Amino acid sequence: MALKIHDTLRGDKVPFEPLVDGEVTMYLCGPTVYNYAHIGNARPAVVFDLLARLLRRAYKVTFARNITDVDDKINAAAVASGKTIQEITGRYIKAYNDDMSALGVLPPDIEPHATQHIAEMISMVKSLIESGNAYVAEGHVLFDVSSYEDYGRLSKRNLREMIAGSRVEVAPYKRSPQDFVLWKPSTPELPGWDSPWGRGRPGWHLECSAMAEKHLGRTIDIHGGGLDLVFPHHENELAQSRCAHNGEPFARYWMHNGFLSMDSTKMSKSLGNVLLVHELLESVPGEVIRLALLSAHYRQPLDWSGDTLTSARRMLDRLYGAVRDVDIGASERSNAVPLPAVIEALEDDLNSPKAMAEMFSAAKELNKSTDAADRKALAASLLAAGDVLGLLQWSVEEWFAGASSDGMSADEIEALLVEREEARAGRDFARADAIRDELAAAGVTIEDSAEGTRWRRVEKDQDE
Ligand code: AMP
Ligand code: ZN
Repeated sequence: MALKIHDTLRGDKVPFEPLVDGEVTMYLCGPTVYNYAHIGNARPAVVFDLLARLLRRAYKVTFARNITDVDDKINAAAVASGKTIQEITGRYIKAYNDDMSALGVLPPDIEPHATQHIAEMISMVKSLIESGNAYVAEGHVLFDVSSYEDYGRLSKRNLREMIAGSRVEVAPYKRSPQDFVLWKPSTPELPGWDSPWGRGRPGWHLECSAMAEKHLGRTIDIHGGGLDLVFPHHENELAQSRCAHNGEPFARYWMHNGFLSMDSTKMSKSLGNVLLVHELLESVPGEVIRLALLSAHYRQPLDWSGDTLTSARRMLDRLYGAVRDVDIGASERSNAVPLPAVIEALEDDLNSPKAMAEMFSAAKELNKSTDAADRKALAASLLAAGDVLGLLQWSVEEWFAGASSDGMSADEIEALLVEREEARAGRDFARADAIRDELAAAGVTIEDSAEGTRWRRVEKDQDE
């Protein structure tokens, strides 16, 4: 596989080579489970699902995506709702997994929960104290950033400048404002675990370092997350893991997706400008949301607007429309080779917009071709490429019957076609033409043939 990926640490697109031949380990920072996922949160899940699907074509992949189920935001949500922490986390873990599954995100191989790795976290903190990289102060354990000379390399920040310009509120027990918490004390009503430093709970950054080591080893191939995680979360994970492991590399490649925004403002729970995945799913098939999320390159910002889903739905209608009349058996589909141009685009740092353009050019060729064997082969390759993209997973009939309710539902279209038949039978051609025009205005073309009338949706302003 000729995969190239953009590595945040090197600041460059580089050829991908795993540590162990034929195998890839991958860690993605997962959700903090205190409310529903918004589509910004879904972006990394979809992007790294696509990467995992692509990698699995050539490698044995071990993909871990964690659940942060101990966090001050969770504690606050429990207090605010009068529920227990377990009720909150249980509910939102399930909601997250249901939502991601609706977006075609396959379950990761491992889904470690932070609360089930406290022993590993305590052991990492102990080794950081022993190696002189961490210190105990007033029941807290802090990482001493000055003890790690590469601090700031991932996020391209200079430690001295950071300290000088720091607006971090400095707790009195910190030696330096940038020192971060590995372990903090818990009051009796907060979740806590016994430790050599008293009853307490882990810092967020520590959780991922400990879980990655436990499940994927000291050096992992790919570490992913959203751009907002580069600093401080990943910078701190990197510092802890390297210092706890005698300087061994932590992640060979760091990949970060760009932000999803609305009206150029980052979508975020704290700003309240969120579109929840589970609400969108009430009216839109998950595949439409998935395609919308993949319509921009993962490193580029994606500005969500009212048109984003409409155009994603039209795009899927075009692709399903292209394979609609081609009769392909299950084995032909599973044995088909995905369109090489699509794979090539994805191997180039996951260029999903280019991959989609290749899908459309194949669909166009398919629509034009009259050779049955060619059409079959093209359709099978298109569907196989869809499997890599996590798209075209519906049967064509289901898609047109249920999923494609943009503008006019399938039932409404069918009803109009019946009316048109009746008009034609009664030689009321003006009415029949008016119905054809009405359908065309709704983006539906019809084709009359000896077997009857077929309809399909087309993207407006696109030649077929
Ligand atoms: P959180 O639950 O806030 O920890 O976020 C889970 C994941 O979603 C992290 O990888 C974040 O970087 C990512 N994320 C959060 N907001 C956005 C956004 N607006 N655009 C893209 N990714 C985001
Ligand atoms: Zn993390």
